[in-house]
Amino acid sequence: MKCPLCGLEFREQDGVSGCKGCVVSGSCSLVKCPNCGYETPKEPGVIKFIRSLKKQKERKK
Ligand SMILES: [Zn+2]
Repeated sequence: MKCPLCGLEFREQDGVSGCKGCVVSGSCSLVKCPNCGYETPKEPGVIKFIRSLKKQKERKK
């Protein structure tokens, strides 16, 4: 996924582990950017699916 603040692309699991000190650890739905520390909600599966479709279309061009 991509950080909306600094634009760094990182794996969602890396961002989740960055939020381990969180009080609501386990149920926290935020992903923390390893670069700038910006916390963003996880991308819903639907958005990932749409994005993968767009990528496929771009490849065909
Ligand atoms: Zn960032």
